[in-house]
Amino acid sequence: MKNDNCIFCKIANGEIPSRTLYEDERYRVILDMGPATRGHALVLPKEHFENLYEIPDDWAAGALAAAKKAAVLMKDKLGTDGLNLVQNNGEAAGQTVMHFHMHIIPRYKNDNAHILWKPTSPSAEELDDVLRQITG
Ligand code: AMP
Ligand code: ZN
Repeated sequence: MKNDNCIFCKIANGEIPSRTLYEDERYRVILDMGPATRGHALVLPKEHFENLYEIPDDWAAGALAAAKKAAVLMKDKLGTDGLNLVQNNGEAAGQTVMHFHMHIIPRYKNDNAHILWKPTSPSAEELDDVLRQITG
């Protein structure tokens, strides 16, 4: 299903033009208009799912396969040194467009892109506590 008020539905289905580097029946991979690095792209499913909690498993698996196709293209054609996959869910996590998407961020030595988190140092008890809470 598409959502008439969703810009990524329109882009994914070709109603709004985009810089498409890969497309198949279910997904379109486009260049991000505010890239973290050269070649930063987004995997957009052609159906509307808001986030990871909403997207069916087969669509989620297919999104990763589409990301891999784009990643291989980038490695071959852009000479990337590495790659981050990022997928934000919810405002608290930085999601600004409420249509599931996966960021493919090519990395280059010394690119100075700010993508990774700052590690903390919890005690063993704190780690055990969160594990109990999740699995209990
Ligand atoms: P997120 O913060 O995970 O929701 O990411 C949304 C991303 O979509 C941002 O990196 C934006 O730069 C990008 N974006 C938003 N609108 C467009 C558009 N019309 N075309 C290409 N990229 C877009
Ligand atoms: Zn949508």
